[in-house]
Amino acid sequence: MKTYRIAALPGDGIGPECMAATRIVLDRIQAETSGLSLEITPYRAGAELYRDVGVTLPDAVVKACIDADAVLLSAIGLPDVRFPDGTEVQPTMMVGLRRALDVHSAVRPVKLYPGAPCVLKESGPGIDFVVIRENLEGLFASFGGGAKVGREVATDTMVITRSGTTRVADFAFRLAQRRGGRPSDGKKMVTCVDKANVFRSMAFFREVFMDVAQSYPEIAKDAVYVDAMSLYMVQNPWDFDVLVMENQFGDILSDLGAGLVGGLGLGPSAEIGEEHALFQPSHGTAPQLAGKNVANPMATILSAAMMLDWLGDRYDDAVCIDASVRIENAVASVLKDGSIRTPDIGGTASTTDVAHAVADALQASIPAS
Ligand code: ATP
Repeated sequence: MKTYRIAALPGDGIGPECMAATRIVLDRIQAETSGLSLEITPYRAGAELYRDVGVTLPDAVVKACIDADAVLLSAIGLPDVRFPDGTEVQPTMMVGLRRALDVHSAVRPVKLYPGAPCVLKESGPGIDFVVIRENLEGLFASFGGGAKVGREVATDTMVITRSGTTRVADFAFRLAQRRGGRPSDGKKMVTCVDKANVFRSMAFFREVFMDVAQSYPEIAKDAVYVDAMSLYMVQNPWDFDVLVMENQFGDILSDLGAGLVGGLGLGPSAEIGEEHALFQPSHGTAPQLAGKNVANPMATILSAAMMLDWLGDRYDDAVCIDASVRIENAVASVLKDGSIRTPDIGGTASTTDVAHAVADALQASIPAS
């Protein structure tokens, strides 16, 4: 039996509370599952650490993340903790960690669980698609390198490479192979979201996507402009399965997706590379909620489920994959029941109450065959 070494970064704001809640669920599933062994080691990183010692991400923590089998991160950053130039510490730390781990594909599931609040009047055959965001290049490749010319002009450069686009497109098709297709008719489909009608960089992104698609003839392919996609996500989200796009477009559309299916408190995410992977909720540190035990921990708990799924897939470990399915089913059953939920989704329960409710529901959650 393999013991998976998990580097846990609780971070700032509501991060530590969401991480503590997730530990309750992970500890319970470990206790109840023979053959599942996780060695979870917490590390300090982020804004509070910067306030204390002037460093956001110590080299030793980067090394621990590289050495671990997976990284579970809660939320990082505080608006009042800034570098001397006035910028927040969070982007520098996250971009640094992403680059160190070479995690090229960010995965944001947009899934409507029964009982979760949905802003749409009709949810048709259901919402269950995934936004794949290229995580290292695009407009974010300019991070720290944009130019300001005098008082009138500033530029940031969009960087699209064949190798980076190939990696993320390939990842999207491989994910589509593992999924059950779009809710409307079960068709497996990958949609390239771009602005190929205007920008050369985007036309190139689509060109490389189409090249990669040729290796997956069994998966349907499609391409949609990003402006149209933001309309379709609201009008007919059930017609999509896997969406793949440039970094900044993914940043925006994944938050729109979270808004469709219950808000940031329910949005997990994964950042995956060839060797390493990092799992964290889509939300930030929500400082106004910190320390009150009211944050919704489900996004972090679902991110931990994604981590187990990735470990299971990587190491061909069915116990891990079953544990992932059980955690997701337990979250789904607590949402469906509706009696224990945090204020962001209309309840009065605490972060800890939700964690215990999910842990209690694990017993009844049956792995999908
Ligand atoms: P960042 O810039 O780090 O992404 P942000 O301030 O833009 O952070 P978030 O902290 O992600 O945004 O959250 C925005 C708002 O959504 C919060 O102020 C809070 O009201 C709500 N929110 C986010 N996450 C949660 C959560 N887990 N539980 C409850 N409410 C949440």
